[in-house]
Amino acid sequence: MRVVLVGPPGAGKGTQAQFIASHLSIPKISTGDIFRANVSGGTELGKLAKEYMDRGDLVPDEVTVAMVRDRLSEDDAQEGFLLDGFPRNVPQAEVLKKMLAEFGISLDVVLNLVVDDDEVVRRLAGRRTCRSCGKVWHELFDPPAVAGVCDACGGELFQRDDDREETIRHRLEVYQEQTAPLISFYADEGILQGVDATGPVEEVTQRAMSALRRFAD
Ligand SMILES: [Zn+2]
Repeated sequence: MRVVLVGPPGAGKGTQAQFIASHLSIPKISTGDIFRANVSGGTELGKLAKEYMDRGDLVPDEVTVAMVRDRLSEDDAQEGFLLDGFPRNVPQAEVLKKMLAEFGISLDVVLNLVVDDDEVVRRLAGRRTCRSCGKVWHELFDPPAVAGVCDACGGELFQRDDDREETIRHRLEVYQEQTAPLISFYADEGILQGVDATGPVEEVTQRAMSALRRFAD
């Protein structure tokens, strides 16, 4: 099966990508992994990407697309794959569609993890990080024995700027703005499937798997 997974920050996308890919016995292909593999492998594309990253610039679409093309051409991706983090926008989705058509294949389904903004804020804004050892706790889901103190090392816990409610809400707005056109693109293609991503991780995986089975029929 050829699957694309999309979802906002805080939807547990990375975890779900791993579980779903392993249930389907297909490789999980994330842009992060592809970048790291190319950079550490010293490929031409990796060197090119690193020049941009070292300057603090975004890696251009053409470089990302070329890396994705290389990765999808590998043996383990021939029976299917789960893409995580690509495509990010409609132009990338169009390029992917063309690329797959050249390979004589197409996407089967795009899973959209759906979580409402308040739930994302509840998940992320409760995170507290230890100043000494860096361990991350959660006020609701994984609280230390004494509030504000790290169980592991006795260090002081603090809230990272990334975990502040305003920052999270801003990231969600940016995500919705960028992703809404992508979601419509795949809805028009008739391959979009929403998955309720609230509740325990295993339940979300089960929902995703039933959605995929519906599409496989
Ligand atoms: Zn600590």
